[in-house]
Amino acid sequence: MKFTFVTLFKNIVEGYFNDSILKRAIQKEILNVEYINPRDFSSSRHNKVDDSAVGGGAGMVMNPQPLFDTLDELRNMSRNVHIIFLTPVAKPFRQNDAKRLAKKSHIAFVSGRYEGIDERVLEKYADEIFSIGDYILTGGELPSLVICDAISRNVDGVLGNSDSLEIESFETELLEAPSFSKPEVYKNISVTSEYLKGNHSNIRSLKLALSVCKTKFFRPEQLLKHRTRKSYEK
Ligand code: SAM
Repeated sequence: MKFTFVTLFKNIVEGYFNDSILKRAIQKEILNVEYINPRDFSSSRHNKVDDSAVGGGAGMVMNPQPLFDTLDELRNMSRNVHIIFLTPVAKPFRQNDAKRLAKKSHIAFVSGRYEGIDERVLEKYADEIFSIGDYILTGGELPSLVICDAISRNVDGVLGNSDSLEIESFETELLEAPSFSKPEVYKNISVTSEYLKGNHSNIRSLKLALSVCKTKFFRPEQLLKHRTRKSYEK
């Protein structure tokens, strides 16, 4: 799987791939990451990539020429590239999107900066547009990394143990049950005692009950979805 980051600030993105699981996936050639700077495609004398907003308004907007040329070049080099733009106003990115997009062979993330990107660029090149939440960040680099990380976990071979994907939160409507590590008692606080008895069927039932409690507390709307689905399945 190849990821291309179209960004004015490669340094912000690059460091994330220098450690841990994604670094190993790159070393094993399961993932491949490249960067393109739209400034390198600017035809203006000082390699400008932004200008004031037509029709007024505060701040600068990324202008079309450098991005049109960047994305034309990208499409010429890779016919099957799936181009994703990041903007706070789009549909929210979800786990289902991560799983679906993990089947693509090449994804490009286009990061906005300043007050955003000239809308004509999105209209011409976006295969998909995502937000990562209802708040405004200074640029699209963090959202690109968030989405890239979530997709990468679902690419075959990236996680050492792919079983962990199946029990994770958002695989079903219920959130994952609480997890504990060793020692079993730490500073007089014990792991839930049923976990220690080794009866796997009891542990499974308890984990399900704890998943329901956790979902009710943190995400009650998810529990409602779960119960509605279960009642339809009966
Ligand atoms: N003026 C824009 C608006 O009000 O919708 C916000 C622009 S924001 C300061 C600059 C860039 O950051 C955006 O073009 C986008 O790429 C990125 N960005 C900021 N918040 C984001 C979010 N919640 N999800 C995805 N991208 C975001």
